[in-house]
Amino acid sequence: MTNHLFSLVRDGVPDPAKTVIETPEGRRYSYADLIARSGAYAAALRAAGVETGDRVAVQVEKSPEVIFLYLGAVRAGAVFLPLNTAYTPAEIGYFLNDAEPAVFVCDPGRRDALAEAAAGVRRIWTLDGAGGGSAAEAADRAGDAGSAFADVPRGPEDLAAILYTSGTTGRSKGAMLTHDNLASNARTLVDFWRFTADDVLIHALPVFHTHGLFVATNTVLASGGSMLFLPRLDPKLILSLMPRASVLMGVPTFYTRLLKEPGLTPEAAGGMRLFVSGSAPLLAETHRAWQARTGHAILERYGMTETNMSTSNPYAGDRVAGTVGFPLPGVSLRVVDPETGAALGPDAVGMIEVKGPNVFLGYWRMPEKTAAEFRADGFFITGDLGKVDDRGYVHIVGRGKDLIISGGFNVYPKEVETEIDALPGVVESAVIGLSHPDFGEAVTAVVVGGPGCPDEAGVQAALEGRLARFKCPKRVLFVSELPRNTMGKVQKNLLRDAHAELYRD
Ligand code: AMP
Repeated sequence: MTNHLFSLVRDGVPDPAKTVIETPEGRRYSYADLIARSGAYAAALRAAGVETGDRVAVQVEKSPEVIFLYLGAVRAGAVFLPLNTAYTPAEIGYFLNDAEPAVFVCDPGRRDALAEAAAGVRRIWTLDGAGGGSAAEAADRAGDAGSAFADVPRGPEDLAAILYTSGTTGRSKGAMLTHDNLASNARTLVDFWRFTADDVLIHALPVFHTHGLFVATNTVLASGGSMLFLPRLDPKLILSLMPRASVLMGVPTFYTRLLKEPGLTPEAAGGMRLFVSGSAPLLAETHRAWQARTGHAILERYGMTETNMSTSNPYAGDRVAGTVGFPLPGVSLRVVDPETGAALGPDAVGMIEVKGPNVFLGYWRMPEKTAAEFRADGFFITGDLGKVDDRGYVHIVGRGKDLIISGGFNVYPKEVETEIDALPGVVESAVIGLSHPDFGEAVTAVVVGGPGCPDEAGVQAALEGRLARFKCPKRVLFVSELPRNTMGKVQKNLLRDAHAELYRD
């Protein structure tokens, strides 16, 4: 048996001397470097006692080393577990307790702050954004063992990664992704989006999330292409790199920010062949503005941590603004009545369910939650509401569970509300997402305060350090009572309507 996921990378290597990753400072790594360095991490992890199936949890700044560490963990037969860099020590403590990793790799600057959260982990390594730290040193020491590392055999159904989703009830769930979930999706995207070894992707997404780590990276590696690897979204830098690139993958915020750059012209984007957007809804308005400015129709696709990519607008056909295209080859998608599970016809809005090799194995150590989110015939209940039109295009019309997507990150209101409600003087709160020109949606809290309740700045200050920055409300509004329906449920739709213009410029 081979290592199912890593074989995809090995088999895709064009010329080992070819550059696979280049940084803005001009550091270049060849495919041969990628094989050697990931082998060094794999050898170092095994030498540190990591066994097949063990988790390797990682909360570090983006750098090429993270990609080598990810591939090293996969080659070592371990389960890679990336964590959002914005998570606070309290949040990290929950993940480490739940996942029980054999190794935790963190930024050297946060080592002390995370000591308590990571107290139960056998080995703690560090890795900084420049590629230094004890993890990199352990890989350096692996030497010959690294270059000779024999990939640990892993089959299609074995676990390759766990990615935590935001929890609707305050508890995050670890989505277990198999080697074939990732490998099959990468192969499908290579074919569907026509990736070849000639492609150069501008990679400015975070690598702790499915979009940057799997959709972007795996697709490039499986096609033998290369990446211009940016630490973060930098519109001016992206524009300056376009003449050397062929593809950009981003969340909608990438496109709204780039549209503010006067340098975005048909000439600047002339050499590019593909712009992909996903992770949150792209406004039809942004799609049209982009086409007018660059001559390119953004290709919007839809997926989630649990399912990898499920649908995509066509490469050659009509890329319809406001839709997420068709189910990808091999993926079955249906829209059903959320209550009864009965399949609905064209244009009827219901729950989107998907099935295919892309769909995850289940939630880590949560068999009841897993069982509750799958139908008996194997379809996964996504939690997204949508419809399929008479041409077969899928539309996402809303999100069940009131998920907020701010700057491409998911925020579940319940988690923020719980923190606000715990503050002295707060009677109750409702957290909603409001349309924001930059973030897509901005987290907004509506609070009913009693005696001693803090003011807006006070609430914001109290949440800092308790919640990741992207979850903290951009604004806090005060009301005397929350609107409720006859069943006593807070009518968030009324709050959203009443404050729809809050962030309009
Ligand atoms: P995540 O697991 O962080 O990737 O978030 C997945 C969620 O993002 C999905 O369940 C959708 O609600 C949303 N999402 C992803 N892509 C799109 C899209 N193109 N349009 C609308 N919502 C999207």
